[in-house]
Amino acid sequence: MIQLQTYKQIITELENYNCNLVAVSKLKPVSDILGFYQAGHRIFGENYVNELVEKQSQLPEDINWHFIGHLQSNKVKYIAPFVSMIHSVDSLKLLKEINKRALQNDRIIDCLVQIHIAEENTKFGFSANELLDFFKQPDFIEMKNICIKGVMGMGTFTNDQEQIKKEFSTLLTCYEDIAASNLIDVKHFTEKSFGMSGDYKIALKMGSSLIRIGSLLFGSR
Ligand SMILES: *Cc1c(COP(=O)(O)O)cnc(C)c1O
Repeated sequence: MIQLQTYKQIITELENYNCNLVAVSKLKPVSDILGFYQAGHRIFGENYVNELVEKQSQLPEDINWHFIGHLQSNKVKYIAPFVSMIHSVDSLKLLKEINKRALQNDRIIDCLVQIHIAEENTKFGFSANELLDFFKQPDFIEMKNICIKGVMGMGTFTNDQEQIKKEFSTLLTCYEDIAASNLIDVKHFTEKSFGMSGDYKIALKMGSSLIRIGSLLFGSR
């Protein structure tokens, strides 16, 4: 069952912040998505390419689909025609493929670079050290059909608030370092995607611009 009451509370909470909500609908049916769509929501996040393609074909055209899961290069072509933003860019190989498929579709695809901030080593993403080198590569500079809009990170799944704050601070430092580096166009570099069901309140206070919330809205998976 979708939690429309919680949705309305979060939307009200967001009025005090410069932040948008990505409603994470992975593994949930299109009927649930339509429930939030009818309440006025347009930004939905998905983790799996096949599932996203399937849902996109069944749902209204004006949904902004954000891809937030780990993305394999060989699957970019399926979402390139319609995806609004890819949060999970974690390699040059992937970004090159996104650029190539965006060009074929005559689009510019908005991307975030995923930064590894959690303790767990299962989560994908660049380390803080790797990032500036990434933007210095000639291959990166040549890409014209992607727009790097910001950074994304996932905190450790823990109740330790201090640890989560520390990890989010790492993400913000990376964001500032990139913004100050002159390696990218800072005019478009405005997004900080962090905060999920368990830690979004901390994320809001720390300046997240995109919180990604699944289970609070759609129920547990
Ligand atoms: C599943 C997922 C979310 C949402 O998680 P909840 O804890 O259900 O809010 C957010 N971001 C990413 C990258 C995810 O994979």
